Amino acid sequence: MKRPIDEPGPVPAILHFLLARTIEDKGVVERQREVAREGGESADAREYLDHFNLRRASAAVEAQLGTMMLHRPDRTGVCRECGDRSERRGVGPAYPCPTLLRLTWQFEHHPDCDDDWVRRAPPL
Ligand SMILES: [Zn+2]
Repeated sequence: MKRPIDEPGPVPAILHFLLARTIEDKGVVERQREVAREGGESADAREYLDHFNLRRASAAVEAQLGTMMLHRPDRTGVCRECGDRSERRGVGPAYPCPTLLRLTWQFEHHPDCDDDWVRRAPPL
């Protein structure tokens, strides 16, 4: 059975990996928010929170999640954001696209990070 061209298929491994890391980051932000709300657990925690910008950290997590949702593959295996969205669908960089590959850099030492993603990310 043929799927409509924009219907999502199975979640690609790179998206699964990045989503898991984003959920972890969101958990850290939420925990820091709780500590800040409760006045901190220790002097060290309070000192850390003085330098931890919760609003910026939360925005960074949301931005990463938004980027991941934009850069999903279409039925042809091309990124919906980076690929050609005209009648010539299916034309564009192979998936995962350079944007997602670049997002893996921040997790290159994570045991579940595929070295190939980091290696294939385009240089700055
Ligand atoms: Zn893309």
